[in-house]
Amino acid sequence: MTDLVLSDSLAAARRRLEAALADAGRAPDAARLLAVSKTKPAAMIREAHRLGQRDFGENYLQEALDKQVELADLDDIVWHFIGPLQSNKTRDVAGHFAWVHSLDREKIARRLSEQRPDDLPPLNVCLQVNISDETSKSGVSLAELPSLAEAVMAMPRLRLRGLMAIPAPADDPIAQRTPFARLREALATLRQRFPEAGLDTLSMGMSGDLEAAIQEGATQVRLGTAIFGARDRSA
Ligand SMILES: *Cc1c(COP(=O)(O)O)cnc(C)c1O
Repeated sequence: MTDLVLSDSLAAARRRLEAALADAGRAPDAARLLAVSKTKPAAMIREAHRLGQRDFGENYLQEALDKQVELADLDDIVWHFIGPLQSNKTRDVAGHFAWVHSLDREKIARRLSEQRPDDLPPLNVCLQVNISDETSKSGVSLAELPSLAEAVMAMPRLRLRGLMAIPAPADDPIAQRTPFARLREALATLRQRFPEAGLDTLSMGMSGDLEAAIQEGATQVRLGTAIFGARDRSA
């Protein structure tokens, strides 16, 4: 980590995303880079911001709130909450983030909508889908996805944007694509069913599987290690 130069790794991540989009025959701006800064100090976020990065993803609420206080002068940062979400965290998430990627329960959604402050625009949300089944406890099942989506779309202070997934790790790029394809199909089905909803987001792809996710239509990739280096604790 000591030899990591953030300007180099961020530039490399941008080139990697550009190359993946070109390989997939997609437009250069068809996917956004979300920098996952969990466990990394506020100073690194400040440096990435200086280098033009604006979207940052955090998993741990208290850690994120602390960094937001330190970085309060950077008023154009877009904060994304991507970690597990329990009832006791919804008020702070609703008040301090622009996006939530990890919504998977109606009860949590209702709290977020009720607690979203009036002076902020509606909270952008993605529903986290459990596409590799047994291995993960989080995420709504494909079977329950349509009813959860419909419920969330009716909530006045939430804006449903799309779907997110964290598939079980796989090394082989072909195997990596299967769950991403499933998420893409799930979004296509929802878009057909709710054509007016403006569902435009597939949040998928991390440092180990960005290319596969881009091949399958990711519009936001969440890169941590590739930008900030390895994390000290497994997170
Ligand atoms: C940590 C994390 C990432 C980033 O993972 P890397 O492999 O470090 O790129 C992306 N999404 C979520 C939900 C995460 O928790």
